[in-house]
Amino acid sequence: MKIAQLFSQGRTVFSCEVFPPKKTSPVDSIFRTLDGLEAIRPDFISVTYGAGGSAAVNQSTREIAAIIQNQYHIPAMAHLTCVSSTRQEVDALLAGLEADGVENVLALRGDISPDRPPCTDFAHASQLTAYIRERGGFGISGACYPEGHPESPDLVSDIRHLKEKVDAGAEHLVSQLFFDNDDFFRFLERCRIAGINVPIEAGIMPVLNRKSIERMVSLCGASLPRKLTRLLARYGDHPQALREAGLAYAVDQIADLIAGGVDGIHLYTMNNPDVARHISDSVAAIRRV
Ligand code: FAD
Repeated sequence: MKIAQLFSQGRTVFSCEVFPPKKTSPVDSIFRTLDGLEAIRPDFISVTYGAGGSAAVNQSTREIAAIIQNQYHIPAMAHLTCVSSTRQEVDALLAGLEADGVENVLALRGDISPDRPPCTDFAHASQLTAYIRERGGFGISGACYPEGHPESPDLVSDIRHLKEKVDAGAEHLVSQLFFDNDDFFRFLERCRIAGINVPIEAGIMPVLNRKSIERMVSLCGASLPRKLTRLLARYGDHPQALREAGLAYAVDQIADLIAGGVDGIHLYTMNNPDVARHISDSVAAIRRV
């Protein structure tokens, strides 16, 4: 099933993101994650693509997406970045995904590394999106940034480029993580004014660990509202308390987003099925209204 079709069913879509296990973890650890996610039946599961385009990691993106699609019978979306890829490499990856029955791709540029000159075949995600659309065979999604992409001079130019990505063929957008729903609702309004009318899922990352959230925020530029910095200050050195507070914060964010009519929630699970389950159970009744 193409992911854009999920949004025509008149309910809030609930999806999850997983990443290929790190070199230090056993490959089988992904099955524990997927078994846990299967129990909550997300509408689709996306699989990240290794930053920098290492062949081994990206092979596992394809393999895990195929497992989700064919063994768990849950629609899979494979992330695909073009910053380090030639057209031939993209062709090969798409052919592999197609052969495995994976029908959805999140078309991304990827981060530009100062240590590695970018490949010149695709400068922006919109070019990759147009290329995949021209080829055919995939539902195409794209990334968006409620607080603006860190490289963008301002939100206006970021949204202008986002519109180009949608016009190039992105049928659905997934947002970067954010912690202040007002940022998301303002962004949504600006997108609609700009004529971006595809479904936009809100990316939610539960705060469970102070160090990892500080690292994530420094990488993606998301801001931390007062309500959250208070939790981090008070419970940051108490892992169990922070976990409880962080889960409550994520559930509160999701309830408010659904009340505000969001198209979908995309949960950054960090491969932790217990967290995904807790959140899914906590909002089950809310999602049905
Ligand atoms: P683009 O849409 O190309 O935008 C990048 C920047 O270029 C923006 O500032 C945009 O405004 C600007 N821009 C776009 N078009 C033009 C133009 N024509 N002229 C001038 N400027 C332009 N990274 C990974 O490595 N692997 C992953 O699996 C992964 N998954 C992600 C999932 C989600 C939901 C999100 C939100 C991000 C993900 N990322 C991932 C990170 C992503 O690769 C980076 O944020 C990257 O820097 C931008 O990718 P993009 O596809 O948004 O790029």
